Amino acid sequence: MAISSRQLSRNSSGGSKNKKTAEMLVKLSKDESPFTRIPDYDYTKLKKGITCASCNSFLISVKDRQIVCDHCGHEEDTDASILRNVGQFQALFPNEKITTNVIYDWCNEIKSKKTISRVLNRNFLRIGHGKYSYYAECGD
Ligand SMILES: [Zn+2]
Repeated sequence: MAISSRQLSRNSSGGSKNKKTAEMLVKLSKDESPFTRIPDYDYTKLKKGITCASCNSFLISVKDRQIVCDHCGHEEDTDASILRNVGQFQALFPNEKITTNVIYDWCNEIKSKKTISRVLNRNFLRIGHGKYSYYAECGD
């Protein structure tokens, strides 16, 4: 008991623990969005389309509710892969509004706008009406 309480007081004094947490967060966010490290990019020059979650290949076949990687055979739920690509888009273009048309263009292989808007409606907050509507992070 005596040892553990001494360790506790040592941990609470000094800010080294907080610094470590901050470093870990930086590391985590870097791993989450590798695209932010690309210094120069242009939407029109970027290759559009869904990538494989496993090997990052663009060789994807879209089935009914699943996408299948032609390169490594990895299968993923279509909804999950669309969400993953929305996340990529947000990481690359944090100032761009998320709309059905934008994500439809970004995901390329998903041929149904209905599917895209269903996924967006389910996971994001819709703001506005008609063709001027866009999506925002829930609770934002
Ligand atoms: Zn793959």
